[in-house]
Parts: sequence; structure tokens; C-alpha cells
Amino acid sequence: MTKKSEQAVSRRSFLKAAGVGAVATALAPGYSPRAKGAQFSWRMVTSWPPNFPILQTGAERFADLVREMSGGALDIQVFAGGELVPPLGGFEAVSSGTVEAANTASYYWAGIVPAAQFFTAVPFGFTFDQMMDWLHVGGGLELWEEIYEPFNLVPVPLITTSMQMGGWFNKEINSVEDLQGLKMRIPGLGGKVYEKAGVSVVLLPGSEIFTALQTGTIDAAEWVGPYHDYLFGFPQIAKYYYHPGWHEPGTTAEFMVFKPAWDSLPKELQTIVRAAAAETTLWSFGQFEVENARHLVKIAEEYPDVELRRFPDEVLSTLRGYAQEVFDELSEQDADFARVREAVERFAQEIDRWSNVSIESYLPAVQQ
Ligand code: CA
Repeated sequence: MTKKSEQAVSRRSFLKAAGVGAVATALAPGYSPRAKGAQFSWRMVTSWPPNFPILQTGAERFADLVREMSGGALDIQVFAGGELVPPLGGFEAVSSGTVEAANTASYYWAGIVPAAQFFTAVPFGFTFDQMMDWLHVGGGLELWEEIYEPFNLVPVPLITTSMQMGGWFNKEINSVEDLQGLKMRIPGLGGKVYEKAGVSVVLLPGSEIFTALQTGTIDAAEWVGPYHDYLFGFPQIAKYYYHPGWHEPGTTAEFMVFKPAWDSLPKELQTIVRAAAAETTLWSFGQFEVENARHLVKIAEEYPDVELRRFPDEVLSTLRGYAQEVFDELSEQDADFARVREAVERFAQEIDRWSNVSIESYLPAVQQ
């Protein structure tokens, strides 16, 4: 503890001595950092409900890490969804400089930047590790920065839900025909894919799913995975729990920063932000994997009537074909979407050969 506070003090003194605040202001004309002495004081809004496990708590953990690593030089105040701006108001609030930053998910901005969806999750897209490969090594992050630049935004990957579940169904899905006429809560591209199979897609916020499923207003709903689904009570009201979460195989959230605020940070604080975000993302991955595993057991023990099912192969391959059609249509409408899609597919091809002889070759050998 003593050592840590000594380091903190020396870093603070260094920043003060270097006159970082003044330099930063000069670097970003038109933007005045809200600085107290040598400190940068930012506000970060999120899309998550207060205390929402791993996402909101992860955002707070990230802010704590940045504060600790920077010896208090960068202080990020965290506001849950709705506290300062609406849960899906992050893009506008950060892009306009109303707040410096947000922790949210780029697929929420599909209506403004369709290509941004690739940086969170797309149907039959990357798993968490593949997403990290692509963003950090395969040029994905550079592409994301390019896509966000016209909006005055700098993206940093922050927090993953890892692979999600296919969702809760009160009807059995044995064939593609069983999807016809099904009423399901599922947002985004996953919903567009289901529509092609005749599903009637319903958009509902998380807080309204339980009642809609319980009253039969909808037949099915996807949310996150065993941990959050258990907390929301879905095993009480739905019979079949389907996997895999083909629509969100490696959902990755974002930390987006108002570009002039980002540019006003000295390089070492930018590095601290990136390092703290990477560490928190890894932490969130571990949290989700372990809590999902534990809650899958709890669901089985406490709700013996719930049946865990895998979507039939025929259903998955048909949906995958529909996903390609959805991507084709969006590529025709939006050049950036087409460009990012091409980069994603090229990278997927590049790493697939290796995956075939590494993880995919290994897992069947250790599975019971
Ligand atoms: Ca979901």
C-alpha cells in the first residue's frame, strides 16, 4: 500500500512538473479539459442499469483502475444509464462533447453507423478470442477508429459478455418451420436474420421481457447468458433454453471518447486508459465464463423442468445462410458496412485454418 501511494504521488508530481494540463489544452483548440490542477476530470455515461453485474460494475472497476494507475491524474466519474443521459444516449452525448466518454456497445448505433455493428457482435461472427485477435492484431481497431473519426469519437474495446445464449423459448424448435410465426424479443441483426425465417421480431427493453414471456405476449426472448438470465428470473417462465448464441458469439462493448478530450491527454494517460480497458475486458471475460458456468448449474438444480437444447444443425445452417443475405442487403446500402464486412471475412478466413488445427482439433479430445 505504501509503495503504491508513493508511486501515485511521484506520478502526480511528474505530471504537475511537466505542466501537462497546459500542454494538452494547447493541443486541442476548442476543447478545454475540465482539469483540477494536474488532474483530468471526465464524465463517463453507460448504457447499463445501476449496479448491473459485470457491465456497470466493470465500468466502475475500469474507472477505479485508471484512477489508481494514473495516481489520480485522470479521474473518470461513472454514471449509469439514465442518470445523466438516456441509456442509449451515449453516442450523441460523447460525439457532441456533452460528456467526455461512454461505456456502451457499438451495435446500438446501427441506425447511424451500420458498419459499427461488426465491432460488437454480428450473427455467426467472431468469438471473444477471435474478436480480440482481429481488433488488437488483425487491423480491426484501426478500422473502427477510421469509422468513428467523422463523429469525433475514439473507440477502445472495453468489457465483453463472451458468448451469449440462444435464448428462452416456450416452443420447441425442431426445424426451420417451427420458427414461422414465432414471436421473439431479439434486437439487431439477429432479429433481421430471424425475420427471414418468418419470426415476428419484437423489440423490448430488458425490464419488460419477463412479463411479456410470462403472459405469452412473446414466445421467446434472448437476453445475455445463464448468469444474467437467472437474475432476471427467466427459468421461472420459459421451458427451453437454447444454445448456442449464434447471434452474439463474442459481444464486445466499447469505451468511446470525445476525440478532443482524448487528444488532450498526454500519451502516458492514453496508454493507461488502453491498458486498464484491456485488463478490465479480460476480467469481464473471466467473470462471465465462471458466473455463467455456475448459474447453468443453479438453473438445472433449481428449475428441473427447464430443458437445455441445442438448435438443430439444419436450423443453424439455414440461419447462417439468411445472415449472409442480410449482410448482402446492408452491403448494398452502405459502403462502410461492405468494407468492414470484407475485412472481417478476410480475417476470419485467415485465422480459420489455424483454428482448425489448434482449438477445434484439441477440444473434442478433452470433451467427455
Ligand atoms: Ca443479447
